[in-house]
Amino acid sequence: MATAELFRNAEITENGVLFNGFVLEPVVESCHGCDRVAEIENEWYCSSYSKPASKWRRGNCNFATHLKSAQGKGKGKVNPIKASKRAAGKK
Ligand code: SF4
Repeated sequence: MATAELFRNAEITENGVLFNGFVLEPVVESCHGCDRVAEIENEWYCSSYSKPASKWRRGNCNFATHLKSAQGKGKGKVNPIKASKRAAGKK
């Protein structure tokens, strides 16, 4: 996504980049590849969180767009009645 679009309301102040009332901290290494990252003045910032490091402190960031979801990897629920009929049919 274009930086101009993500950080439309951002201001560069003497304290740093001000966006929606928060001074932004640069993204952390885990954020690389996320669609919410954009560049301002040769630094990379998150458009969703002012402190990206805090989003990774307790595991994966729940807004990261570059992580594959754990959902859909399993085979889903198994109906025990159908499973037993399937197993019985194989004998
Ligand atoms: S949404 Fe999460 S992973 Fe993406 S840039 Fe922001 S803090 Fe990093």
